[in-house]
Amino acid sequence: MTDVDMFTAFDTNAAGRRTGRTPRWALGCATGPVEPARTISVVPHPDESAVRAALATVNDPEIRKPITELNMIESVSVGDDGSVAVTVLLTISGCPMKEQLTREVTSAVNTVDGVSSVQVTLGVMDDAQRTALRQQLRGDAPVNEIPFAQPGSRTRVYAVASGKGGVGKSSVTVNLAVALAARGLSVGVLDADIYGFSVPRMLGVTGKPTQVEQMILPPIAHGVKVISIGMFTPGNTAVVWRGPMLHRALQQFLADVFWGELDVLLMDLPPGTGDIAISVAQLVPSAELLVVTTPQLAAREVAERAGSIALQTHQQIVGVVENMSWLELPDGSRMELFGSGGGQAVADALAASTGTKVPLLGQIPIDQRVREGGDSGAPILLTDADAPAARALAAIADALAKRQHSLVGRSLGLAPATH
Ligand code: ADP
Repeated sequence: MTDVDMFTAFDTNAAGRRTGRTPRWALGCATGPVEPARTISVVPHPDESAVRAALATVNDPEIRKPITELNMIESVSVGDDGSVAVTVLLTISGCPMKEQLTREVTSAVNTVDGVSSVQVTLGVMDDAQRTALRQQLRGDAPVNEIPFAQPGSRTRVYAVASGKGGVGKSSVTVNLAVALAARGLSVGVLDADIYGFSVPRMLGVTGKPTQVEQMILPPIAHGVKVISIGMFTPGNTAVVWRGPMLHRALQQFLADVFWGELDVLLMDLPPGTGDIAISVAQLVPSAELLVVTTPQLAAREVAERAGSIALQTHQQIVGVVENMSWLELPDGSRMELFGSGGGQAVADALAASTGTKVPLLGQIPIDQRVREGGDSGAPILLTDADAPAARALAAIADALAKRQHSLVGRSLGLAPATH
């Protein structure tokens, strides 16, 4: 509205924007005594298309696409007084992101000139709308199709493996994930450590995934999409599953989770050379192994065994990470609690057995803050980026980020399973 009527000028709202109505003074055209000239700012009536454009800047927190594109806006109405009412359709009624969505919609609409107030009403999609959303996101891909196993997939999949538990495989996985996300890559973590899942805690994820039809929307923590069997079990219950069920769970995590266009997917494997490692090779033949070990002789022997699975599955080994390499003492000297040379020895042994180059990608010292960050859900990479352990992890992330994904000349080994 650009015409100025008797009550066009607006009062100012809390945000400093002019909102309500005050009488307009004579504007110099009256015949009587002339009032001193006054400046009146006229705020345009908010335009519905401008409101919709503002709404297009709001992403669904889980799907990470504009809510307008996802057909989540049921209605927009703009009152003469500049009040705006928006109805947003949630994917499911218990959507954990309600408050965030309401907040972001309100602040986006508030940026539009002339808006005096914003009222957000939340509705829920009906079955047909959910089906349409799923269709829009997944296209015509069959329900069980694993996007990372399709020819031309641009996602680099790293399966993080270790010979035994407790060597820091999960700590390495989550820190690399947040480091890669901080470099602007789109990153997912699949916690395939079915028996010892610890990734949700390490990334501070407490929410449950939202399910839309057969599609699971993964929670996002520190910019990383995360899915774990721990999100589907009540409390801290152990998962007692045998091979075929594990395979099915993994398949579901790979196929039914809406990962979007990932640059990198990190899979935290259970320790050892068990069923899951074989399933990964079958389901995502292009997955490359990242082997984590400590310098200790015992750890190094089993790490070699875990890595040598790549020989049978024809997977590539991207490299070896040595964790808990030393403890830096207050005088600057290093105490090698678990011995030394394990990481390099594993890399050399795997290079010899596979006939490929297997680099030692880095050595991460012992640092109490790695453990504390794991317990509190705030990875050291974000809290103490200058700590030597964080810098070692960041350097490994850099090496992984720089790698080009190429399927050229790769032996695909086992055929991908389709169901
Ligand atoms: P895994 O996944 O191999 O079982 P975790 O990542 O769960 O191992 O690590 C085992 C324990 O060791 C955790 O409490 C973790 O916080 C701690 N930890 C791992 N790496 C380090 C490190 N470099 N310095 C200190 N503590 C570490």
